[in-house]
Amino acid sequence: MRHAFFGDIHGNLDALEAALADITNQHTSSLHCLGDIIGYGAQPAECISRIRDLHCITVAGNHDLAIAGEAPLDDFNEAAKEAALWTRQRLSHDDIIWIRNLPLMVHCDGFTVVHASLAHPESFPYISSVSAAEECFERMEKPLCFIGHSHVPVIFFDAVSRRPPKVGLDLAEPVPVRGKMIINAGSVGQPRDGDPRASYCIYDTDTQRITFRRVPYDVSKAAHKIQEAGLPPILAWRLEIGY
Ligand code: ZN
Repeated sequence: MRHAFFGDIHGNLDALEAALADITNQHTSSLHCLGDIIGYGAQPAECISRIRDLHCITVAGNHDLAIAGEAPLDDFNEAAKEAALWTRQRLSHDDIIWIRNLPLMVHCDGFTVVHASLAHPESFPYISSVSAAEECFERMEKPLCFIGHSHVPVIFFDAVSRRPPKVGLDLAEPVPVRGKMIINAGSVGQPRDGDPRASYCIYDTDTQRITFRRVPYDVSKAAHKIQEAGLPPILAWRLEIGY
């Protein structure tokens, strides 16, 4: 079985279509959306429609819930808040209800999917340190946990199996599954690791390997749509540099 994991689309339909086309070419058998379908980008309703049509496992992201009125906007910076309020006006009542009913996490056969962390998933902490990773590892009932949220593709290994070095791990090559792992698939619609290409990953249960994929798409087109929509300009130019 080849499972695809993708998220942090953030209303970027151009990036989503490119990623989904690549996923199809990779002969995956199931798709899992890691949340944050909307917020920042110019085509939120189109992205929600596309994800809903996939009927795939989907967990809620912090932007999804805040835009649907299920979480406060207080933690958002000004650009994110402005984009969230703009996005809210463009969703149907049906889409809002659909978002509100998304689960925070889903346990599957051999892995769990959650937007940020299994430690307090409702408050969306960032796993950006070893201690934050340890908190998530402690709550893992399955060997693998697929996440998004930081928009940076990375793998954390638990203390027992941390044999490949965490820092400097080459994600351009398939990574063998070993012990417990937290795998951040990166972001489809707003990567922040200096590479503007859409990011997602595949877990192959036969070869027991995780493969990260980077998919080029028309970044300028997506950035132009953000400008045309009157959204904060920073949201357009950050796409061009992948930050
Ligand atoms: Zn996000």
